[in-house]
Amino acid sequence: MQPVYLDNNAATRMAPEVLAAMLPYFTEHFGNASSQHGFGTPAAEAVRAAREQVRALVGAEHAHEIIFTSGGTESDNAAILSALDARAERNEVIVSAVEHHAVLALVQFLAKQRGVAVRTIPVDGKGRLDMDAYRAALSPKTAIASIMWANNETGTIFPVAELAALAREAGALFHTDAVQAVGRVALDVQATAIDMLSLSAHKLHGPKGIGALYVRKGVRFAPLIRGGKQERGRRAGTENVPGIVGLGKAAELSLARPSSQAGRVRTLRDRLEAGVLTRIGGSFVAGDAANRLPNTACIVFDAALGEAILGELNKAGIAASSGSACAAGSVEPSHVLRAMKVPYTAALGAIRFSLSDENTEADIARVLEVLPTAVAKAREVSGFAPALPELAG
Ligand code: PLP
Repeated sequence: MQPVYLDNNAATRMAPEVLAAMLPYFTEHFGNASSQHGFGTPAAEAVRAAREQVRALVGAEHAHEIIFTSGGTESDNAAILSALDARAERNEVIVSAVEHHAVLALVQFLAKQRGVAVRTIPVDGKGRLDMDAYRAALSPKTAIASIMWANNETGTIFPVAELAALAREAGALFHTDAVQAVGRVALDVQATAIDMLSLSAHKLHGPKGIGALYVRKGVRFAPLIRGGKQERGRRAGTENVPGIVGLGKAAELSLARPSSQAGRVRTLRDRLEAGVLTRIGGSFVAGDAANRLPNTACIVFDAALGEAILGELNKAGIAASSGSACAAGSVEPSHVLRAMKVPYTAALGAIRFSLSDENTEADIARVLEVLPTAVAKAREVSGFAPALPELAG
């Protein structure tokens, strides 16, 4: 039986064209991109070309607005720390309650260690940002607002253009973690007031350990990693040339992807959701149905442990992920679903299915065949009382 991969928000399969583009930079073009001799030239040229490919993907005006990093986590950290370091007179940060840990763990640390005031904006039951709370939190003390473009668990898309415009009015910088949005929705930073944007190659069929931070021209930037003069002194360390080439190629492929592909993925995702909801009682789709990534389905199964469902799926060769995380031996529901006020025991039963262009009708049919029994078994062993009226009867 062919395995079914539905965990593309965790990692995507690297495109063969990406691997082919990278290989020469492990072998004949091994030179250091900063070297002044002939071995450095192809590497430097490849980095230049990749910067242009990433510029085009996000719609930046200048290639030098792209800084290569080790991935989404570093880009998020660099953006927020830079805003605080470059504008010491402002000591407040605004984030949403549903940011990735790459943002949340950092700001929690900054609150504790550096006395940074963190304003956390709540979301409603669909995961939509409380716009009034956001407006009220912006002040002359705000250094930066960091709100993700799309949520990694539910796929809910945030109105980043509007949020960025409001931040600019308040004189604050605006950063968006677009790690899950890049390659899945069209981005055009020039059409917005976004100052900084994070992206990561492994979510768009590129390699792991490489990403980028877009920093709008004119925004004061303080580097996270100091040392050599690479990346115009904004990110020290010898460039990861094969990784950068891979990210550039992935960006190029993503831009060339016909828009019909997103429609196809959305149709498969919608079929999966509709099929699950008709077959399995006590389940619902979490997130904003009107504003969601086309590839993501976060389905909550009441009175079941997500890990147990995943175990059953895994036995059948189906890969998905749960919203909960095992911490110190106990299973905690995801902070995203808790922020959306999904009842505790229902949130523990959330499964995220995330698709890519590679998925087929047969994949969806297979999940619909296996899932009802998987959920029934997980419910049998959970010992949870149902939290949703449907199951509670
Ligand atoms: N931000 C979001 C929204 C993510 O989904 C992820 C990865 O899952 C990250 C940041 C971290 O990116 P990376 O793994 O490249 O550090």
